Amino acid sequence: MQKGKTFIISGPSGVGKSTVLKALLKKRSNLYFSISATTREPRPGEVDGVHYRYMDVDTFRERIANEEFLEYAEYVGNFYGTPKQYVDEAMEVGQDVILDIEIQGALQICDKRPGTPRIFIAPPSWAELERRLTERGTDSPEKVQKRLLRAKVEFQTAHTYDYFVINDTVETAVAELDAILTAEHCKPSDRMEIISGR
Ligand code: ADP
Ligand code: 5GP
Repeated sequence: MQKGKTFIISGPSGVGKSTVLKALLKKRSNLYFSISATTREPRPGEVDGVHYRYMDVDTFRERIANEEFLEYAEYVGNFYGTPKQYVDEAMEVGQDVILDIEIQGALQICDKRPGTPRIFIAPPSWAELERRLTERGTDSPEKVQKRLLRAKVEFQTAHTYDYFVINDTVETAVAELDAILTAEHCKPSDRMEIISGR
């Protein structure tokens, strides 16, 4: 059995990453969404162990010390981190893994696991991003402004990613992500067993 691949998805808060990833997970059965640890409070409707593994700062720091994270970062006042164990277990059984992480975490993965494909998801416009963040109704106007500021900084790194997907409609964004994942499995390096066996 071939090992799965890990894919990094980054993009501004509110661009629609969770929405498009939910649809992508329905489309591709062999996909595992890495559930991050976070110190931020759950939003209404978010479930522990489904959206995030929620924990206090002391517990998070303990896990950093135990080297349990593949990467971690501070984002707008909270910690977020990717538990290493689940990612590796999923890849071992042949599943592709999606990491929905911000840019500092993406850089750490680039260092530790070079060649990990990175996909940036962008909004069709800044006005639309602000509308989505506001209409989601989960953040105070002050937090929306902080996230928008951070989004503009993050956008400046978009050109360093391997792929750039605009989430205009969910359907087109999902179709592009689906195509990218498929294409990444068509690299000769992924098919050396077949190539060298003929
Ligand atoms: P993120 O995970 O990037 O923070 P969400 O998936 O929570 O973003 O989406 C933010 C808001 O934008 C949600 O209310 C969601 O329903 C809406 N949304 C997501 N994608 C689209 C889209 N393509 N068109 C319009 N609204 C969208
Ligand atoms: P939110 O609070 O909107 O769910 O997420 C805020 C930001 O944290 C998003 O950009 C999201 O991609 C990022 N994020 C979520 N989980 C992780 C993680 O495990 N590591 C890092 N570095 N960023 C994460």
